[in-house]
Amino acid sequence: MLLRQLVDTSAAVTEVSGRLKKIGLLAECLRAMDGSERAIGARYLAGEIPQKTGIGYATAGEVERTTPPASEPVLSLVEVDRRLEDIAALKGPGSAGARKAQLGELLARATQPEQHFLARLAIGELRQGALDGIVVEAIAKASDKPAGEVRRAYMLAGDLGAVAAEALAGGDLARFGLVVFRPVLPMLAQTADDTAQALGELGGPTALEHKLDGFRVQLHKDGDVVRAYSRALNDVTDYVPEAIAAVKALPARRVILDGEAIVYGKTGRPLPFQDTMKRFGKNGHLLAAEMPLTLTAFDALLVDDDTLLAEPAQRRWDVLGQLAPTLSVPRLVTASADEAAAFYRDALARGHEGIMAKAPDSPYDAGIRGGQWLKIKKVHRLDLVVLAAEWGSGRRKGWLSNIHLGARSPDGWVMLGKTFKGMTDEMLRWQTTEFLAREVDRDGHIVYVRPEIVAEVAFNDVQRSSRYPGGFALRLARVVRYRDDKTADQADTIDAVRAIAIADGVLSEG
Ligand code: AMP
Repeated sequence: MLLRQLVDTSAAVTEVSGRLKKIGLLAECLRAMDGSERAIGARYLAGEIPQKTGIGYATAGEVERTTPPASEPVLSLVEVDRRLEDIAALKGPGSAGARKAQLGELLARATQPEQHFLARLAIGELRQGALDGIVVEAIAKASDKPAGEVRRAYMLAGDLGAVAAEALAGGDLARFGLVVFRPVLPMLAQTADDTAQALGELGGPTALEHKLDGFRVQLHKDGDVVRAYSRALNDVTDYVPEAIAAVKALPARRVILDGEAIVYGKTGRPLPFQDTMKRFGKNGHLLAAEMPLTLTAFDALLVDDDTLLAEPAQRRWDVLGQLAPTLSVPRLVTASADEAAAFYRDALARGHEGIMAKAPDSPYDAGIRGGQWLKIKKVHRLDLVVLAAEWGSGRRKGWLSNIHLGARSPDGWVMLGKTFKGMTDEMLRWQTTEFLAREVDRDGHIVYVRPEIVAEVAFNDVQRSSRYPGGFALRLARVVRYRDDKTADQADTIDAVRAIAIADGVLSEG
């Protein structure tokens, strides 16, 4: 296939609106590729290249500007791949110049639209969030395979090209199995406001689990070797020796588990998130004696020769429960709204940040934030006063965006943190006008205002803070609305914040 055809498809995909139309165009292009081109073409369509070219933004731009384009399209996908391979192989002294020269030679064989495409492809600028998801669906369409199967293979292989080549050749995607010591992207959760909403959305009996506010770990075991991976798939084995030991002791040769590592205090309540995270700091291992980590597992992806990933959750939990009963997260399966609400209250009373609601029949959707897992977290609300605001950047340029929040105290206002979350465009417009009307001072990009405007702020936790004068900061704060029915002297006090910190176990009484 000529590069020209792929570039035309890529441009058309950008122009049409509607996911299905985009998928149709991509599938048509994929179908037109032969066996040697599919892996390359699928990646290019997703804006990816397998090589690390070492070409930077400036070089790509300069070479594109200074290289006269070819008048006819002659480049094939295979030739582009070979030339990028050559560029990626350049190393050592003088390689920067050679890279530039070789990129010039490549672009000299490209027409103007091809040049533009290649320059952006080479520096990774064509990669956009949702594009690979659409290409996955196009591969499914072009190969007549279920999209779920292609998506799963991609999540496991992490290589769109290999999956495209296999699928389009009519091969078996099951060969992209789970491999121990090759971590998969963790399944992610959406949010529900409360248990009733979660039950409604999942429908029928729903599994409820404690939501532990710690560090996500994926544990892989083969024989005597156990390794742990973070949510971003980094190897964190050295940080979690307790979890490694616990998994090593399990009566199975090969295991992949998903879970959370968390530190419990002497009373059996989980320590605040910021304390658990100390174990993941530079000298975290030195804290092991006073702050032991506990591993709680909530999923099993593989046990011995049983790949469980595509199995219904209930089956995975059964296997996990048998293999590691003492490591398993407390779980209740119920369709009763009352039981669910009671489970939630109990989880909070035990010091957890909330619960997870999960569909018992769903597969483990690696890397997906689908609706099969829902998190329900405790939320606090306070009415706080805006002390200052910072000029926004990017899409928020020209608007006062990040606001400084304060609580009342006998000595004036105590700052508790900042947030730019939760604001609609209308709120941004409104607040920019209102804040400027109350401006008292400026310092760089910060505009200080008369403390008159009250914002209702939702947040998940109070944290201890050495940065803010009150000794507290809000975690995950977002603006719910502005309270034009309240004046600043009716805002919440620092005592109200302290009370939340005490109730949540972040601060001891007295
Ligand atoms: P969030 O980070 O607020 O999006 O919540 C999702 C995170 O909750 C996951 O990535 C896990 O680290 C964590 N988590 C805690 N308990 C559970 C559980 N029982 N099931 C799944 N995830 C959990």
